[in-house]
Amino acid sequence: MGLERFMGAVLGHPELGYYMRQDPFGSRGDFTTAPEISQIFGEMIGAWLVDMWMQMGKPSPFILLEAGPGRGTLMADILRVSKEFSAAAKIHLLEMSPVLRQKQRDALGGHDVHWHDDFSSVPDNAPIFFIANEFFDALPFRQFVYNGPSGWAERVVQMKRDEDMAFEFVERDCGSYDPLSEFDIVAPEIGFIFEVSPDRSAFMVALSRRIKAQGGAGLILDYGHLKVGYGDTFQALYRHGYIDPLTHIGDADLTSHVDFAALAKAARESAVMLAGMGEQGDFLNALGIGARAAMLSKNAAGKQQDDIRKALHRLTHSDEMGSLFKVMGIYSHDAQLSPAGFKH
Ligand code: SAH
Repeated sequence: MGLERFMGAVLGHPELGYYMRQDPFGSRGDFTTAPEISQIFGEMIGAWLVDMWMQMGKPSPFILLEAGPGRGTLMADILRVSKEFSAAAKIHLLEMSPVLRQKQRDALGGHDVHWHDDFSSVPDNAPIFFIANEFFDALPFRQFVYNGPSGWAERVVQMKRDEDMAFEFVERDCGSYDPLSEFDIVAPEIGFIFEVSPDRSAFMVALSRRIKAQGGAGLILDYGHLKVGYGDTFQALYRHGYIDPLTHIGDADLTSHVDFAALAKAARESAVMLAGMGEQGDFLNALGIGARAAMLSKNAAGKQQDDIRKALHRLTHSDEMGSLFKVMGIYSHDAQLSPAGFKH
């Protein structure tokens, strides 16, 4: 089977899927995300959303929509940034995991929250302010390998013949199909791998169309690249270490790097404005995360001050999450607003 089907089943199978059975975050889980590192991450994201909401004339009510909210930490931190913004927000979450929906319910106790499996049931009668952190990397993707003049083959997964539940990669002929046809990229060499994700692009188109039609803005953060390129980025995380993605089936998180150029293309084709694209570290620094960390430190004890300093480093430094993680912003207005945090 193609990686798309494999990944979709390993992560999302109703009973056995990785996300369906467990809470994968934290020191006892498999990985840690930015909102779980420090509240200052969510406060910066919240500040960006509140600023865009103000620039758009404070529409009320509006839909505050998060895709893949994990433990609900980011949403809870965003809601603490501005009372006026939170009071106007109707909270809607796109989440497939029943375990994580329960965590989100706990984290957002006191707020009226609506859950959705996909876009179709999200209301279409108010502006949407959207956020997704480490959501797109969890959506399935496909891999192709260049075999020279004979063209491309798809890299797929098959069960080993004599072993139960053991898998291996094989190549599947894909005729004259050229995965590069829609991309502006230098010619491949033999053995180069190219990844595409129709699911991520389709999600981006659905989101952009909604924001275009209803008004609003959105911010997408994830690890990946701003320019289209070659390479195998399929990865599996198990207890904070990388493992072979064809082992620990259903017990390890499967992801690949997000191609932000492909997302930007989907956004442009859906006629939303690009607020900008950049690295997470630059974005958070431009929004003033250093000043916010200093303010928190002033009122904190020694150990807490140390934690704040470490969190700031982890979120922004280029050796940590600062460069690997990218940010993309979109918004609905035809008139140029001034989105914060991006160099133009
Ligand atoms: N944003 C959170 C969690 C990231 S993990 C954080 O930063 O901590 C990925 C999240 O996306 C989880 O909540 C997972 O259950 C959800 N998810 C993954 N694939 C999904 C899909 N196809 N539909 C809806 N939610 C999905």
